[in-house]
Amino acid sequence: MSRAFTAEKPFRFQFKHPCVVCNVFGHWSDKCPYLKRIPENVTEVGKGYRILDGRGLRYADMMCCLLCGKFRDHEDEDCPDLSKFIAEGHPLLNRVPRSP
Ligand SMILES: [Zn+2]
Ligand SMILES: [Zn+2]
Repeated sequence: MSRAFTAEKPFRFQFKHPCVVCNVFGHWSDKCPYLKRIPENVTEVGKGYRILDGRGLRYADMMCCLLCGKFRDHEDEDCPDLSKFIAEGHPLLNRVPRSP
């Protein structure tokens, strides 16, 4: 093929940070393959994400709190303001809590 176009790809993007989910450079964390499937040997994902098990297929899921709207910090049942939201009667709290 012609070597006239040896320049870098025009839209080459320098990732300054690794993917927060799998700690690998080269993709945005919302495009991380771990969000679809986590390899067998991986037991940890980045901060703010958790591993969910969907019928034997493990995948990473971004933690988000629907109560206070924070992402990558905690789940709503772990919300630091949970008692406040309970006191306010937040509609989301009517759902069945996870079993003890
Ligand atoms: Zn990734
Ligand atoms: Zn919260």
